Amino acid sequence: MKIVLFQPRYPYGKSQVYLPGGLMNLGSRLMQAGVGVSFFDLNLIEIDSDAVITALINTDEIGFSVLGPPYIDTVVGYIKWLRRHNFLQPVLVGGEGVARLRHGDFKKWFSGLGEVVQARGDEEIKRNLGLSALQSPFDTSMVSMLKWLTEESRRQYLTAEFALFLSDGCGFNCGFCAALKDTKEKYRTTASLRDELEYICRYLKSVGHSELKVYLSNLDALQTVVELEERLKDIWSAALRFGITPHIRCLATSKYMFLACRRDPKLPARLYRYGVRIIAFGVDGADEETWKREHKTHNVLAEIETVTAIVLSVGITVELLMVIGLQKDRPLALLRHLLFSFRKAFQGAVIRPYLGRSMTPSGRWPKETGYIPKKGEVVARELEAQAFLEDASLLTRLDYTMLGSKETHPDWKERWLSNFVYLLIIGTLAPFGLCPTRPLFPVPRKGIGKLLARVVNRLMPFDR
Ligand code: SF4
Repeated sequence: MKIVLFQPRYPYGKSQVYLPGGLMNLGSRLMQAGVGVSFFDLNLIEIDSDAVITALINTDEIGFSVLGPPYIDTVVGYIKWLRRHNFLQPVLVGGEGVARLRHGDFKKWFSGLGEVVQARGDEEIKRNLGLSALQSPFDTSMVSMLKWLTEESRRQYLTAEFALFLSDGCGFNCGFCAALKDTKEKYRTTASLRDELEYICRYLKSVGHSELKVYLSNLDALQTVVELEERLKDIWSAALRFGITPHIRCLATSKYMFLACRRDPKLPARLYRYGVRIIAFGVDGADEETWKREHKTHNVLAEIETVTAIVLSVGITVELLMVIGLQKDRPLALLRHLLFSFRKAFQGAVIRPYLGRSMTPSGRWPKETGYIPKKGEVVARELEAQAFLEDASLLTRLDYTMLGSKETHPDWKERWLSNFVYLLIIGTLAPFGLCPTRPLFPVPRKGIGKLLARVVNRLMPFDR
């Protein structure tokens, strides 16, 4: 059995090169199960290049990873290309962007393209590839795939910042969030992590690169603090053995940081020693009513203030992630988000605003028929999803860096006000280096606006 795995190209007209950790992990597991794996990153190579065509001619199956719903239309485009060129093998489509899609929606977007399977998890992969077993991603080191890469792409991936898989799952249940939430955080095994770190640090030393720059996969790094510290020690000691400096970035909630610091006031200084240089707190505004509506009552303003000051005091950069402008955000709430952003930036935090979507097909979305909502759960109506179901290209409008459009913010007053506040935060703070977010623009279907939006989106730096 052979499979060609593809990482699709960045959907806004240029190439974004970063290590596709999920595909590296999957590819390594498939190799271990005896599958012949080839991998191509379509940010680095064209789909009609000789190497890709040769691999496609010789493969039994094809796989695409979808990072988020905005990538769905790009993948549909690739599959159309494959079918036009007579590559009729079954296609598996997996990744975070489709893992929680309703099956009917998946079928609608990928209809008329031959055999295309929604790979929600390992069961679909095993069934389609005829495998009796597949190692868990939590037990797997991606070294087999890293070795498979060309020297050029390995170097590009590993000398830039890349996502390091430590854990998945978050115990909170924020309404707008599309991550694996409402579930206990689960860590990967130390053996698989150490194997990966040993290989990567040895490689970096061999090419004369002195920095290991990683972005931890944890959704809330301090949620299981004992495990985190063990893994940070592993990263730090592997880097030390090869004379490499670790530079670690992670996400956290202010709640768990606050609790951890209260239990152990020396923790922030130790985090710095392990190489943690940036902690991004998911603050998402400064309005208690919004937090309540979005089930984010673990946020407490006083705790956010406290942890920001503590973390800054040990030399770690604080980023505040501000998902604002969700539907039903009142003008007063937006004003609070704005003033809070300015105040915290003035106190030394970096502000990363995002324009929230109250709906996304991998999160809050109309549920399957017969679904019984949990207590307090807001379920989107079918009508609100209709435009996206009819035209997959509109799914790019769900990108959190993109300005709101009539599909994402149907009320024009909410839309204009949210867009205004979002742009005002960026426009005011970016010139001082206090806001790295850059806005993308919804691409109209036709006219000069289509061309202009495409050009502007192409010029915008990537969000990281
Ligand atoms: S804390 Fe963060 S990861 Fe967890 S549910 Fe809320 S937004 Fe999602």
